[in-house]
Amino acid sequence: MMKPVHVLAFDADDTLWHSEDHFHATELAYYELLAPHVAPDFDIKGTLTNTQRINLPTYGYGVKAFSLSMIEAAISMTDGNVPSEILTRLIDMGRELLLAPVRLLNHVPETLSVVAEQYRLVLITKGDLMHQSRKIELSGLKHFFEHVEVVQEKDIATYGRIFNDLDIDPREVCMIGNSVKSDIVPILELGGHAVHIPYPVLWELEKTEHPMPSKRFGELLTIADLPAWLHDL
Ligand SMILES: [Mg+2]
Repeated sequence: MMKPVHVLAFDADDTLWHSEDHFHATELAYYELLAPHVAPDFDIKGTLTNTQRINLPTYGYGVKAFSLSMIEAAISMTDGNVPSEILTRLIDMGRELLLAPVRLLNHVPETLSVVAEQYRLVLITKGDLMHQSRKIELSGLKHFFEHVEVVQEKDIATYGRIFNDLDIDPREVCMIGNSVKSDIVPILELGGHAVHIPYPVLWELEKTEHPMPSKRFGELLTIADLPAWLHDL
């Protein structure tokens, strides 16, 4: 019988390596830094998230966008009274995110090595081009992928364009990722397959409803379960 899937498309952040845990820790540090400068019941978290949401169409995804939103929210929530030492600290926190070492998730290299024997692998990640490219280089995983794309948005149009360029039928693709909104729903809409592997922390703006499990959509606890899931297709 013909295999239904020939191409595996992997997300990177929080699928191959840790990312959101560092963002989350940075946000907690942000709340602590700003708390002494706003009213006791002020919604710092909501203000930061809302600033990010408003800036998303202009700044896109990634650390630099996050840093600008942290600074903008700090200025607005303190009515312009945020001390410059705090602004300096916020810029440093952004730089620390950009320069952090790549920490691979468990079982990633060995699983890629197994599935690479039977499938073509591509990597599709969104965010800041320079930061994503740096992480891909540092990860030691680049050689597994015949194609790497850093995109601005992960939607039906983007995936359709990528697979068209690669002369790949999206129905023969299985996308593997931690975000249902970005990695799963668009591929299912294109008739492809998708595997959701949740990461313990999910960014507020990635939250969405999960599709019903089906033959084309799997939910796994770890990437180590991927070869068996693909085998059973
Ligand atoms: Mg991800």
